[in-house]
Amino acid sequence: MSAVLLDARGLEIGYGASVVVKGVDLAVGAGQIVCLIGANGAGKTTILRGVSGLLKIRAGSVTFDGETLTNRPAHVIARKKIAHVPEGRQIFAQMSVAENLLAGAYLERDAAEIERRREKALARFPRLKERLSQSAGLLSGGEQQMLAIARALMAGPKLLLLDEPSMGLAPLFVEEIFSIIKSLKDEGRTILLVEQNAHAALEIADHAYVLENGRIKLQGSGREMLEHDDISAAYLGG
Ligand code: ATP
Repeated sequence: MSAVLLDARGLEIGYGASVVVKGVDLAVGAGQIVCLIGANGAGKTTILRGVSGLLKIRAGSVTFDGETLTNRPAHVIARKKIAHVPEGRQIFAQMSVAENLLAGAYLERDAAEIERRREKALARFPRLKERLSQSAGLLSGGEQQMLAIARALMAGPKLLLLDEPSMGLAPLFVEEIFSIIKSLKDEGRTILLVEQNAHAALEIADHAYVLENGRIKLQGSGREMLEHDDISAAYLGG
């Protein structure tokens, strides 16, 4: 395996009295796509929120690029170049596409670097280029997802956390989103992907974890998980 970029050990995370992530170990190698699958409520989103500092980690540790980030504030974690694209996208609907992109680069001071990232993002997402001055809220669901990913890329992340990027999208967009994720890996990005669309996610994943009730039930390569009888029955429609 490639060098480990993100290493989470014994993670316990919850809300109020309920613990929903119950001792999870997971690792993401540099340049890999690692995916987390599991039923609704298994705790996938909660893990991403813990890693990016949005939720308190009650036990365990998160190490990123050799540095311990457990329970550091979210803004500090963002500075370490972990970019989180949350479930439901959460773009700034009242702002233009161009302003949303710029917002993604708020930690970058170098104007030339911001422009370079912007050019790259617009080359990758030509639909956004055509709509730069439009309000982001007027974009279609698929376009908003592209904007959310483009905005995260504007931060120049070493690790992208993608939460259900294909959720609620028309089939054509779903295909496009997965091909974008694959192309991000091909250019060397590292991605931790949470997906309900287990089949498509496993197709592109180097490694996958199957989460059940807050615990890792199974793990292996994307291919191994695709061929695993239990996974097929539970998550791939038999
Ligand atoms: P989904 O695909 O539905 O998002 P998930 O695997 O990402 O599923 P989580 O969103 O991590 O699951 O939720 C895990 C558990 O935590 C669920 O039982 C959920 O109801 C609970 N939970 C999530 N967010 C909160 C919250 N803000 N307050 C209380 N409980 C929550």
